[in-house]
Amino acid sequence: MKLADAISLLRKRYGEAALPPVRGPWQWVLWENVVYLADDSRRAAAFEVLRQNTEFEPEAILDADDDALLIATSTGILAKQQAGKLRECAQIALDDFHGNVDIVLDWPPIKAQRALRQFPGIGTPGAEKILMFEGAFNQLALESNGLRVLLRLGFGEEQRAYAATYKSVREALGTQAPIQCAELTQAHLLLRQLGQEVCTRTKPNCDNCTLSRQCPSSSA
Ligand code: SF4
Repeated sequence: MKLADAISLLRKRYGEAALPPVRGPWQWVLWENVVYLADDSRRAAAFEVLRQNTEFEPEAILDADDDALLIATSTGILAKQQAGKLRECAQIALDDFHGNVDIVLDWPPIKAQRALRQFPGIGTPGAEKILMFEGAFNQLALESNGLRVLLRLGFGEEQRAYAATYKSVREALGTQAPIQCAELTQAHLLLRQLGQEVCTRTKPNCDNCTLSRQCPSSSA
């Protein structure tokens, strides 16, 4: 099955995926760190509280008292840990970016990725995702749900290490005609949604999957 065909079917099923309320790499860094393991609606609520309390300014995050940060991070688990991570992010933003993390959009992708990986919670897939959503990386970045869906659709092979699996899937995608840059974010979000709601890790619901007729792993 071609990736573009899978995305087309998912779009028919789910419609256009809503974009997160995030603008620019710095906000993405905060989006990823504001809560730990929360769903999108709780993450968005925490993000909005952080916006109201700090305007996302690195200095304001560093100067904020514990309560001002905890009221945002306690939307998820490990609230104190995440408040510490927000402060760590702010310190890195000031020390290494003079407060302007969004400058990475002017840099070559490899340099930009390396810079973003300095922040807590941002690995290679996360850095690629940030740049892809900001139109500065022209390949499909994946998180774990989308990666699982593509593996089951026959792209790449599962390896012992997550990074090796990710590389295998990306290499398999590389043999296909690239989809348009603007479509990459939709592909990311729609594959993630299918992985979260239908093609789950332990019990894929193939009977209710819009890709079941084309999927080599389907049990339907
Ligand atoms: S048919 Fe089943 S295994 Fe294939 S993508 Fe859908 S839910 Fe996943």
